[in-house]
Amino acid sequence: MAIIASPLQAHHLAKGKYVFFFGGGAADGEASMRNLLGGKGANLHEMTRLGVPVPPGFTISTEVCTHFYTNAHAYPAELKTEVDAGIARLEELLDRRFGDPASPLLVSVRSGARASMPGMMDTILNLGLNGATVAGLAKLSGDPRFAFDCYRRFIQMYSDVVLEIPKKEFEAKLDEAKERRATKLDTALTSEDLEALVSEYEEIVVKRSGHPFPQEVEGQLWGAVGAVFKSWMNERAKYYRKMNRIPEEWGTAVNVQSMVFGNMGDDCATGVAFTRDPSSGSRVFYGEFLQNAQGEDVVAGIRTPLPISRLSASPGRSLEETMPAAYGELVETYKKLEAHYRDMQDLEFTIQNQKLYLLQTRSGKRTGFAAVKIAVDMVTEGTLTPREAVERVQPEQLIQILAPIFEPAAKDQAVKDERLLSKGLPAGPGAACGRAAFSAQEAVKMAEKGDPVVLVRAETSPEDIAGMSASLGVLTTRGGMTSHAAVVARGMGKCCVVGAGELTIDEKRCEMRIRNVKISEGEWIAVDGTTGEVFVGQLPTEASEVVRVLIDKTMSPEESEIFRDFTKLMQWADEVRRLRVRTNADTPRDSHVARAFGAEGIGLCRTEHMFFEESRILAVREMILANSPQERRDALAKILPMQKADFAGIFREMAGLPVTIRLLDPPLHEFLPHEEAAVNSVARALDLEGRVVRERVAALQEFNPMLGHRGCRLGVTHPEIYEMQVRAILEAACEEAEAGSAVIPEIMIPLVGTTKEFTMLKSMTDRVAAEVFAEKGRRVDYKVGTMIEIPRAALLADRIAVDAEFFSFGTNDLTQMTFGYSRDDSGTFLPAYVEQGILPRDPFASLDVDGVGQLVKMGCERGRSTRSDLKLGVCGEHGGDPSSILFFHSIGLDYVSCSPYRVPVARLAAAQAALGGGGDKTA
Ligand code: ADP
Ligand code: MG
Ligand code: MG
Repeated sequence: MAIIASPLQAHHLAKGKYVFFFGGGAADGEASMRNLLGGKGANLHEMTRLGVPVPPGFTISTEVCTHFYTNAHAYPAELKTEVDAGIARLEELLDRRFGDPASPLLVSVRSGARASMPGMMDTILNLGLNGATVAGLAKLSGDPRFAFDCYRRFIQMYSDVVLEIPKKEFEAKLDEAKERRATKLDTALTSEDLEALVSEYEEIVVKRSGHPFPQEVEGQLWGAVGAVFKSWMNERAKYYRKMNRIPEEWGTAVNVQSMVFGNMGDDCATGVAFTRDPSSGSRVFYGEFLQNAQGEDVVAGIRTPLPISRLSASPGRSLEETMPAAYGELVETYKKLEAHYRDMQDLEFTIQNQKLYLLQTRSGKRTGFAAVKIAVDMVTEGTLTPREAVERVQPEQLIQILAPIFEPAAKDQAVKDERLLSKGLPAGPGAACGRAAFSAQEAVKMAEKGDPVVLVRAETSPEDIAGMSASLGVLTTRGGMTSHAAVVARGMGKCCVVGAGELTIDEKRCEMRIRNVKISEGEWIAVDGTTGEVFVGQLPTEASEVVRVLIDKTMSPEESEIFRDFTKLMQWADEVRRLRVRTNADTPRDSHVARAFGAEGIGLCRTEHMFFEESRILAVREMILANSPQERRDALAKILPMQKADFAGIFREMAGLPVTIRLLDPPLHEFLPHEEAAVNSVARALDLEGRVVRERVAALQEFNPMLGHRGCRLGVTHPEIYEMQVRAILEAACEEAEAGSAVIPEIMIPLVGTTKEFTMLKSMTDRVAAEVFAEKGRRVDYKVGTMIEIPRAALLADRIAVDAEFFSFGTNDLTQMTFGYSRDDSGTFLPAYVEQGILPRDPFASLDVDGVGQLVKMGCERGRSTRSDLKLGVCGEHGGDPSSILFFHSIGLDYVSCSPYRVPVARLAAAQAALGGGGDKTA
């Protein structure tokens, strides 16, 4: 992936520069250079430029990471000189020396990729400490306790990340030390305790690595830098990238930054904050901190953090009260940063002896609710234009707003029944009801069996990601709104409750207790991520506010703020998009829902679902088992009125809008009974011998049904089926038109691979149409078109378009046949393909633009070459996938078609495509 250079960046790149310095009020980099400096780095440079207090440091660019991986873990030759120069500048600026016991310079070594990957890669703090400098630090600070606290943290982090000694061993020693003091708080450990702990840690290192803990600070630094680069390829980083579609080539930058200390006493602290509420989006400053603590303590949920603002609902003495001056500075800084970046920010800060330092700022991860509210509010505030607001919300996030919530009445009843166990913090809105799993592995296992799962943990860590992703919701007993669980769940759009501290979890026994209630693994619980409530047992759900207002009409627009915000955003999106959005629907109900969500017609009405309905399946089977065309016609005559009624209902819901109906597509075998009992009952009902039915079923069996007797091939061999369907469509259309409704039927012939197939079936359609119009004494306009889903059809699109009035790309089948991957069997190898980087993503979920996309593009161009007004659309899963929509926009399709609940997603994605965006969604 090429790096697009800003002028400043181009200037540095021309000089072959790898190290970028920030500090002393100036910076080599700026926010626009995130591709080169990573997000964290670029923002550290930008904050320095803005005059925000940031500890000085330097960034080693992502280019070095790329070099590292393309040159067998070697660095560019110039790097060492540049890093030495960076350290020298820090020494001068801070009047400290790296490795000097009299006045040691300590640094952190931090990863930072282009896209934020919270907690995914490893950071090392307090680097530069050793046996000599720790004594120096103790003397210099006058606080040996603090010095040993830093050193033991450093040994643990360095050993874990660089020497690959599991942190558990160190944590066990820490726990023992705490037990000896009969305390749960590491802040209660004395200087002597910590010094003894350091010795124990050093012993672990010798025992595990065969060497003493590295004392040479230069070596420490390069060890740490190498480890950060290597962490780019660790399992959790790979998994996170895969989930978030972050390309492997991007690489990470490394930030080497002088340390500031939040653990130097009670006038010190560390914390994280959001400039607005990341859950609801409301305009309140939200954050958490810990006094006398360092870095990750807040996120890790080791101690329960305290609120920043006095007005916060969380208990405990706030930062505002404890350190009013530093709090005041923080408020000023957050306002400055939000105004500068024109977006909600997620901040990390440290207070050292009452003085505030910012360690990080980035666009805050937020729920779909918050994304919509913040975007709309920022337009009202004059910060964003409506177009920018449209670009700010990820289309996928809209799904969250439409998702169901718990039924209030059932919830009230559950409270009365004393099923409400506890209330934690509402970290990710939504309603999740499932079986409790107490480990990530178990969650994955249960989900694979098809059970709905709620993952329950004391706290989560990056190792739990797969389990979180497999669960409907996440519940933790520790941690705050900025804990790992909260941040990651929000990113995934999962329902999440954190910090439900009254619950105790016994991980060994796999159970959770509160008061006299015990919940074991596999038992049902229900978690409300909007209120923080946790229930035992199952709870029914009901429609979201938007659905209640738009579809159920059980709520008025005035009552729902999120509905109003959603509607505004959708209007802005509609003003800019060019692509039309239709829906895939085969019932009047789905058509109704989709239309309420803004669908502009039906792009794919599948007729086979109608065949499966209980009242008709027998007639369908009779038709299939028929021995002669006449018998078949008799059976079809029974089905005709039912199909007609289906179409009439759909036309009515879609009055004035086009409705594309696909003639029967699946192989007939799919409609037949397979189990012995079912075979016999069909035989009885149709007055046939069981043997006859069994023989017919066996005869219709195919080795490769998806490449077999289906689609237009059925139309060719059994024309009476398609004749019946065309008749049903057009009779319904005439009758609806008669009743005053504007009908726009489009008849679609599936699985065409040759021109002749299409022309034959089109003549059949036109013939039946003429018959119907003659009988009815009126005509309606209709179109006949085809699906382009066989590669050959894309290649011959110009010839097919001579007769076809529209094309709808069936990208599911087209993907299947272009790759030669069976859609139904790809689950056995596709995950490995994505894992090993053979494919960037599942091509059935997101269109393979490079290959399948070429066929779509070619199909469009060739088709339009012989019919300039050919209507072009796409149905199939890709029609609702934002990145595929970007491509469909770019090649000039007229519309995409997707399932009803994805219609808003597609509208927004189409708008973003029109605005030229949607590319780097992580920027
Ligand atoms: P992550 O990507 O996991 O957030 P960070 O690099 O941001 O990792 O660092 C982890 C923690 O250490 C954060 O809380 C951060 O604020 C803190 N930290 C990093 N560098 C320093 C530093 N130079 N001084 C003080 N704290 C630091
Ligand atoms: Mg961070
Ligand atoms: Mg198909």
